[in-house]
Amino acid sequence: MNTHKQQIVIGVPAERAARERRVALIPADIKKLIGSAAFIIESGAGRAAGFDDNAYVNAGARITASRDILENCDVVVKVRPPAVDETPRAGRILVSLGGHDPDLGERLRKQSVIHLALERIPRTTRAQAMDVLSSQASIAGYASVLEGARALGVLLPMLTTAAGTIKPAKMIALGAGVAGLQAIASARRLGAVVYGFDVRAAAREQVESLGARFVTVDGNIGAGDSVGGYAREQSSDQQSLLRRALAPHLAAMQLVITTAQIPGRPAPLLIDRETLRAMQAGSVIVDLAAETGGNCEVTRPDEMVTVGGVLVMGPTDLPSLMATDASRMFSGNIRALLAYLLNGSGRLNLDASDPISGALLAGQNLAHAPGVAA
Ligand code: NAD
Repeated sequence: MNTHKQQIVIGVPAERAARERRVALIPADIKKLIGSAAFIIESGAGRAAGFDDNAYVNAGARITASRDILENCDVVVKVRPPAVDETPRAGRILVSLGGHDPDLGERLRKQSVIHLALERIPRTTRAQAMDVLSSQASIAGYASVLEGARALGVLLPMLTTAAGTIKPAKMIALGAGVAGLQAIASARRLGAVVYGFDVRAAAREQVESLGARFVTVDGNIGAGDSVGGYAREQSSDQQSLLRRALAPHLAAMQLVITTAQIPGRPAPLLIDRETLRAMQAGSVIVDLAAETGGNCEVTRPDEMVTVGGVLVMGPTDLPSLMATDASRMFSGNIRALLAYLLNGSGRLNLDASDPISGALLAGQNLAHAPGVAA
């Protein structure tokens, strides 16, 4: 058993990015980890997600001011990447999102901060419990249907009333990965007639298993099969053929949720202005790829744009809207990661030859990192 003195100190600051209400670790998970590390939490860090300071104290953490965390922690755990004045000191370890931002990577390298970027968690069975991209995408898929449904002038379910019968709305998810499949399941629960499309052949069975119909396009246009579980990027000719093949399907839909992404690349353009012109006025597109350029030509992150009566939403903060459960899931992923790296030793075991910590380290310099067994 380690003494408190030997234990690594893990800090959780409050998130300061606009509209970010999640917290990286919740009290229940700290309680499970408390034997193998000490935790300090910035006062109010969990408040917006529904976890107050007292719950953290009861779980065994100490409440403190943010300066204290940056100065005294071996490891800082956050949701969003830190702004310059939120960056841990040199030699410390940062666990957060931000792995697709090369400028951030360069800044943290210059500041000698070891960044364990959560986007680099490998997509393996062993690492599944640590995969924040999946847990947060699942929430975004659910929330996208609620946001889209609220903006529609029509109902999703069929309704038979004394005033007449309302037909169910048609919904399609473009991209049937984690977010798209959750959007499909959520729209089905709300009673829409649901369709799905993806360039990965394996997605058909998953879409159909949720009771939705898979939209089929010419095999050569649609093919974009997997690299490590992700879709392969299509050529620009293939993309343009795919846009034309999808257009007539989209013209029949009232709600379109787009989730198509290629990791580290701009999102594929699936809906151009020509397709928008053919769509019904009053229909709604929720573009979950807004942060990486969008699947629709007119998408602007966190804005609503209307073209020819079609509303295009580009929300980038959907998991944060459901901050309590989004934090529970994010925190569960972080607990699994920390438990794996701590392995009861009181130190973070960052071993470049290990498939998970090796992927997270990706060539970083571990010299001078306290509490790290490199
Ligand atoms: P993602 O967010 O990178 O992309 C979303 C979806 O867009 C993917 O299904 C992708 O195929 C699709 N797409 C890309 N280009 C497209 C295009 N031009 N047209 C239509 N669709 C396009 O992917 P994701 O949701 O994170 O997951 C992708 C796959 O990986 C899924 O099958 C998922 O189940 C699997 N996965 C595996 C693990 C694991 O094994 N641990 C973890 C998470 C996800």
